[in-house]
Amino acid sequence: MKIINQVFSDINSKENKNEFSLKIFMHNNLCILVLAFYLTLEQLYYGFFLTQYGEVIRTIHFLTAFIMAFYFLLAVYFNKKKLSQLNIFHKTYELSFGIYGFAVSILRALVVKNNIFALPTVYIAVIYGFAVFFYFHPLKSFFIYSVTSVMILFLLPIFKPEILYSTYIYDILSNNIIAWIASAIGYHRYRKEFVNQKTIYKKNKMLQAKTNEIEKINEELHYKSIMDSLTDIYNRRQLNKLLKSEYVRCAKVCKKCSLILLDIDFFKSINDTYGHNVGDKVLVEIALLLKRSVRAGDSVGRWGGEEFLIICPETNFETAYRIAERIREKIETFNFRLEDKVTCSFGVTTNKKIDTVLNLIQRADRGLYKAKENGRNRVEKGE
Ligand code: GH3
Ligand code: MG
Ligand code: MG
Repeated sequence: MKIINQVFSDINSKENKNEFSLKIFMHNNLCILVLAFYLTLEQLYYGFFLTQYGEVIRTIHFLTAFIMAFYFLLAVYFNKKKLSQLNIFHKTYELSFGIYGFAVSILRALVVKNNIFALPTVYIAVIYGFAVFFYFHPLKSFFIYSVTSVMILFLLPIFKPEILYSTYIYDILSNNIIAWIASAIGYHRYRKEFVNQKTIYKKNKMLQAKTNEIEKINEELHYKSIMDSLTDIYNRRQLNKLLKSEYVRCAKVCKKCSLILLDIDFFKSINDTYGHNVGDKVLVEIALLLKRSVRAGDSVGRWGGEEFLIICPETNFETAYRIAERIREKIETFNFRLEDKVTCSFGVTTNKKIDTVLNLIQRADRGLYKAKENGRNRVEKGE
């Protein structure tokens, strides 16, 4: 029961069903294209050169060649055209080619040879060829085999009535049944392959979606691991990494690398006066201001609580000092919408011939300390 159900079952979803019908149609159409081309030539050859069977037979050959040429042209047309839906015309076209093949094979065997025992050679070739090349739903192929069986049952006894009393007719009918089973198995395999392909495609798509999701999460995680969550500039870990890589890069090409370390003046009192939230906003605004003030290639990050670091690769001290001075002025004149002025103190330094990243940072820190000592809101060189 399960096997019968499997053989006769159809594609589940409507969308897949349509796709499967189209796939089968395109496959059958290709078979028609090749076979019709061959049969056109074959029948023309018979029409021209097999003259010994008389004019009626020649006419049948020419007529068949003409019909095959018509099928060939239709097949070429369908092969080029991208069909999105099958209609009754396509289905009739598919079925009629099979039925015509059977009809001609019977007619030819009966009329051409005038010998009923010549029928199997052509007829059996057609039924097995049909079963192997074409894919039809078992119910459809059952219809075709039934039509041809009935044709044989009625035609054979007309030419040779005694055939009904021999096993001959039953052999032909049995071949019909075996060919139908072969056709049903072929169809079942093709359908299974299609369903498997669909499942793999669906799973691949799901896998792709999951991979995309993981990639997105990874990107987010990476972003979070290098950025400061409050100010959205580099965090200290990333600054340390950049410091090393930029310092090494500049040293390699004998270029200067400068650092600007800045610290908000009296930030504690801003927190105490306006609250921690306002303090946070000031930090965010200063970070934004710094980001907008540096050049491409410079890196800005939060070094500590209210301390920021700017890495200026391939920059000498004078330029870095000018940049720091410009930023200092910008912060001083920026409207933080507070009653008190917000200012910053800066320490600037540049690498020496023999130097380390640690020394560089320490000198920038000394410059900053000096700026605080000398009254804040100023830029000092770190010695
Ligand atoms: P100076 O001019 O000497 O730098 O004085 P200052 O008040 O800025 O220095 P101090 O080191 O005494 O105070 C720094 C303050 O920064 C203390 C701390 O509460 C505050 N702070 C550190 N991180 C944050 C933060 O993320 N948000 C806020 N609102 N405040 C912070
Ligand atoms: Mg401070
Ligand atoms: Mg500080």
